[in-house]
Amino acid sequence: MLACRIHAKEDLRIEAADDPQIGPGQVLIRLGAGGICGSDLHYYFEGRNGSFVIREPLIPGHEASGVVAKVGPGVTRVKAGDKIAVSPSHACGHCDYCREGREHLCRNMRFLGSASLYPHVQGMFCEYFVMGERQCYPVAGDISLGELAFAEPLAVALHAVNRGPALMGRSVLITGAGTIGCLTVIAARLAGARQITVSDILERPLATATEVGADRTIRADRDADVLAAPQFDVAYEVSGSFAALKACVAAVKRGGTVVQVGTLPHEPLPFVVNEIMSKELDLKGAFRWGIEFDWAVDYLSSRRVDVRPLLSGQFPLQDAVKAFELAKDKTRSTKVQVIAA
Ligand SMILES: [Zn+2]
Ligand SMILES: [Zn+2]
Repeated sequence: MLACRIHAKEDLRIEAADDPQIGPGQVLIRLGAGGICGSDLHYYFEGRNGSFVIREPLIPGHEASGVVAKVGPGVTRVKAGDKIAVSPSHACGHCDYCREGREHLCRNMRFLGSASLYPHVQGMFCEYFVMGERQCYPVAGDISLGELAFAEPLAVALHAVNRGPALMGRSVLITGAGTIGCLTVIAARLAGARQITVSDILERPLATATEVGADRTIRADRDADVLAAPQFDVAYEVSGSFAALKACVAAVKRGGTVVQVGTLPHEPLPFVVNEIMSKELDLKGAFRWGIEFDWAVDYLSSRRVDVRPLLSGQFPLQDAVKAFELAKDKTRSTKVQVIAA
């Protein structure tokens, strides 16, 4: 079978790999669609994602759907032929965080397609891969494998909204209109937000945000003054830009909340924090997701959430480099996926 491996910065190779074997409780999955995430782009174009540095070839990919090819002894949750969303989260299930229901903070987390541990935990950009059955979420209905691969990023957005205060009647700012920003628009809408404003520095992402439900869009590079006056109850900083975080701190009202969702640059940042004190802000982080993955699969498979406006293109695995190039170009794409040929 073929696997996509990042060896170093801008060194991505499509290589032959051994067909994986399954054991008891395990499921062999044929890749349906795998979304290229910001973290995958960081690994490919920089050789690192924040503080996680590539130290051996890494198969990227943690947003995937697939079809069950074969199940090992004892597997009851799925059967061959099932269409599934795949959870990339391997929490240990028995540390203190897992036991208090915050599995994404697990002390022994093995998250697929991540260089946070060494040896790295390999991801899903390959024709076949093996998962434990509890990571497989079977769905019925006509939802496509491409849409189903949005379960992971949608879970990120649902978790971000879940980390903030109740949104019924609230005014919301989202900085960054990429996939996670647009999915945060959808999540905030589901949670009852009254008005949703999205900022970005490019036209195309803002048009997409409008398409999925944003009420107002702002060009952060041109209309920075619009954000200068405190007017939002809650801000979600999704872009990973320090300037956007500063804008969020300035643009939320006294007593408001800023949720940091994007990955900020690795370098130490100068940060004037007095406003957090004087406006009595809550500054929170949102990292991955927990139970929200289950919710995401339900929202998608029932089409309560429609992610089709966000899917910009699909490429066979062999063309992964082209897929990464398109995914990086936000003037032309939102979410780009690789698919098994
Ligand atoms: Zn991701
Ligand atoms: Zn744990």
